[in-house]
Amino acid sequence: MTAFDIVVRHGLLVDGTGAPRRHADVGIVGRRVAAIGDLSGAVGAIEIDATGRVVAPGFIDAHTHDDRYLMLSPEMPAKLSQGVTTVVTGNCGISLAPWRAPADATVPPPLNLLGQDPAEFRFADFATYLAALEAQPAAINAACLVGHTTLRVAAMASLDRTATDAEIAAMQALLHEAMTSGAIGLSTGAAYPTAMPASTAELTGVASVLRQFDSVYATHIRDEGDKIFDALDEAFAVGAAGSAPTVISHHKLIGPRNHGRSTETLAHIAQAMTRQPVGLDCYPYTAGSTILRRDRLAVASRVIVTSSVPHPEYAGLDLDDIAKRMGLSPEDTVDALQPAGAIYFLMDEADVQRILAYPPTMIGSDGLPHDTAPHPRLWGTFPRVLGHYCRDIGLFTLEAAVHKMSGLTAATFGLPARGVLKPGYFADITIFDPETIMDRATWGAPTSRSVGIDTVIVNGVVSWCGDAATGARAGAVIRLTDDVAM
Ligand SMILES: [Zn+2]
Repeated sequence: MTAFDIVVRHGLLVDGTGAPRRHADVGIVGRRVAAIGDLSGAVGAIEIDATGRVVAPGFIDAHTHDDRYLMLSPEMPAKLSQGVTTVVTGNCGISLAPWRAPADATVPPPLNLLGQDPAEFRFADFATYLAALEAQPAAINAACLVGHTTLRVAAMASLDRTATDAEIAAMQALLHEAMTSGAIGLSTGAAYPTAMPASTAELTGVASVLRQFDSVYATHIRDEGDKIFDALDEAFAVGAAGSAPTVISHHKLIGPRNHGRSTETLAHIAQAMTRQPVGLDCYPYTAGSTILRRDRLAVASRVIVTSSVPHPEYAGLDLDDIAKRMGLSPEDTVDALQPAGAIYFLMDEADVQRILAYPPTMIGSDGLPHDTAPHPRLWGTFPRVLGHYCRDIGLFTLEAAVHKMSGLTAATFGLPARGVLKPGYFADITIFDPETIMDRATWGAPTSRSVGIDTVIVNGVVSWCGDAATGARAGAVIRLTDDVAM
C-alpha cells in the first residue's frame, strides 16, 4: 500500500489553474505534492478529511509590505489566518534591503512604512537580508522584490533630484547583487516624493540590469489620477527596458473626476499586453492606505489615521475628528501627526469590481502590518474576495477567484512550482469552507480574524489547523532558480 506523509481526502479540488473543480485526494511526500486522484488505496501518516471543503493551492499575496513583518512576527498571523502561504515583498519601491542606515538617519517616507527606527534597516546587501530570513524561517514563504526608493536612499546623498550617471551605476550594482542573491525583481514607487524626482531615464537605467536575469518589474505608477495614461506608458517602457514582465500594482483610479475610467485603463493595459508581458493586482476595497499626505485630502471623501508617532492615541480616528480635537485645520493636523499613516476613501466600487473581475488581475492585499489601526485589507483581503465578491455577489466563479490568488500570481511573478496543485509542485495548500469563508476585519475592528479557513499546509507542513496556527515555521525564501521538479 502506498504511503504518504499527508493525505487530504474527499475534498473538492480547485487546482489554481482555473480548471473546473473536481473531487480528488491529494498525497504529499516531504515538501511536495506526490499524487492527486483517488487515493483510497493509500495511507497517510497524517490524514486530513476535507469533506465539504475546497482544497486549493495556498494563496499568494501579490502585493505586500511584509519585508520586516516576516522577521518581527514570523508566525505571520495576519496572512496565515487567511490561507496565504506566500507573500511578495518589497513593493511600491520600498524594500528593507539593501540599506544599512546610519544610527542617526531619519527613515524617509514612505520607506518608514517598513519601520521608523533606522536600526531596523541593517542589511547592506540583499544576500544578508535573505540569509536572515532563512536563518529564522517564517510560517510562510517570501518572494522578495528590490525597491528602487531603497536603492536611491542607499546610493544618493539627496533625494530631491534625479540620479547622476554615477548614482545610477551604484544602484545598478546594488540591484545586480540582489538579483544574484535571490531577489525576484525590481519595484518602483514614483508616486511618492522620495522617488518622484526620478526621471524615466533613471528608472530605465536601473531596470536595465534586469535583462541579465529572469525577473519581474512591479510598479506603483507615478500617477493614479488625471495623468494615469502617461504613468502606465512609463511603466510599460521601464519594464521593456528590463525585458521584464510589468506588474501594475494595486490598479485603481483616484478621485471622483477619474471614477469610471477603469474601462479605458483596462483597454489600455490589454493593448500593452499585445506587445509585452503585463500583469496587475488589486485589493478588494474602495479605500487605499499609505503615509499621511496633505495632497491626498482633496481627492478623499474620508480619511482615517492608522498610526502617528507623536500621537499614537489618534490611531483609528477620522482626521476630521482629530482636527476638531486639536483645534487645527485638516492640513495642519496632517503636519502635526507626522510621521503618520492613513486610510483614504477615494475609489469607486464599480471600478474596483471591474478591475477585480478583469481576468488578468491578481489579488494583492497591500496590507501595512506595522500600523496601529491598519486598513482591514491586511487581515481580510483573501476571504473577502472568496466570501463577498465570489460567493455573495457572484463577481466571478470560485475557480477564477482561486486562480487570481494562486496560479495566475505564480505565473506572473515566475515562481517555480508554486500556485498550482499538481504532482511535483510544492505542497502549499489551503483548505476552506466555501459556505462560511468571510472577512471579519472592518474599519472599526481592523484586525479581526477571518473565518472559514480550516487547514493551511506550507511546504508539506501543517501550519494552520482548526482555528489556530500550529507553530510550524516551514516558510522558504522563493528564488526564481528553485527546482521545478522533484
Ligand atoms: Zn503602492
